[in-house]
Amino acid sequence: MDNEIFNNIINLLNNSKNPVTGNPYDTNNDINLVVKNGHANISISISPDKIKVFENDKSNLQKKILSLPNVLSANIIFTSESKIDVKKPNLNKFKIDAKNIIAIASGKGGVGKSTVSVNLSIALSKLGKSVALLDADIYGPSIPKMMGISDKPKSSENNKLIPLESFGIRCMSIGFLIASDTPTIWRGPMIMKALEQLFTNVEWGKIDYLIVDLPPGTGDTQITMAQRVPLKGAIIVSTPQDIALIDARKGINMFKKVSVPVLGIIENMSYFICENCNERHEIFSHGGAKKEATDLGVNFLGEIPLVTALRISSDSGKPIGIYEPKSKIADSYLEIAKRITA
Ligand code: ADP
Repeated sequence: MDNEIFNNIINLLNNSKNPVTGNPYDTNNDINLVVKNGHANISISISPDKIKVFENDKSNLQKKILSLPNVLSANIIFTSESKIDVKKPNLNKFKIDAKNIIAIASGKGGVGKSTVSVNLSIALSKLGKSVALLDADIYGPSIPKMMGISDKPKSSENNKLIPLESFGIRCMSIGFLIASDTPTIWRGPMIMKALEQLFTNVEWGKIDYLIVDLPPGTGDTQITMAQRVPLKGAIIVSTPQDIALIDARKGINMFKKVSVPVLGIIENMSYFICENCNERHEIFSHGGAKKEATDLGVNFLGEIPLVTALRISSDSGKPIGIYEPKSKIADSYLEIAKRITA
């Protein structure tokens, strides 16, 4: 159902006028859309001086989206990616006592990047590593929910935030820095400031692996991470569909441009094992990411099937690696974690 909503909204935007240009919205470049269980999150990239025009048109657009079949809510935010100068020379890196910082990235939303971030963190922790998880996805911070966290972080005596611990993993989310209402617009410097706070103003302690869940796409968060964070590298999550792969390719090229090593690709929703007939179905023509990895000279880290239990477990805050530690899925994540730590 979410796929149908996704296509309907893209269709609608392709046929709606951007109030500034008068042309249809550029859904390939300016729109980031994530639909979950009937709830649509739409971020529209705009030029900051045009915010008033977009704000005036917002309720009109929202109404149109809400009138589409099965849409339960439509949250529209405006972002302004200032495209921070990629070639800026060595800026001071944020200080954090982490041996390995790994960014989890994807070209587009909804491919399972946050699910991978959570389950990979748990797998690394099972290998005896001290692990922390940072949710930097400004478009839809979902890590606290997936980790079963409902509290907000408290401040320490030094006025730093104390990460919330769940299943032995220290967690922080950019969502905690946002006041009850989402900012209408995220500008590049705001993103940089929020990230700086999340790295330097949190009592992280000593960490072997810090996993950072990035927003989808290739914007200011990625560039800030590349410039200000001593990254070991990035892992790209992609589904095997062509379109997701094209986006993944963009991501790989961007990380190459900013000299961040790509540690590998994970193919998510790789194939589906039917619970009734127990047969394997290759819904999205499985194997695309592996081929892509070979073509691009990037490691292929593993594949995760499409499994209903995984969706239910991550959406209800009960990670599969903890609640079904002997399952095949938990094993797949462990294998990937072993490849990363090898
Ligand atoms: P992203 O971070 O890329 O936006 P999420 O991790 O939030 O994506 O996943 C989107 C939805 O897909 C969630 O409801 C999640 O539970 C589900 N999901 C992710 N990976 C799988 C999988 N391998 N099998 C089944 N459902 C999955």
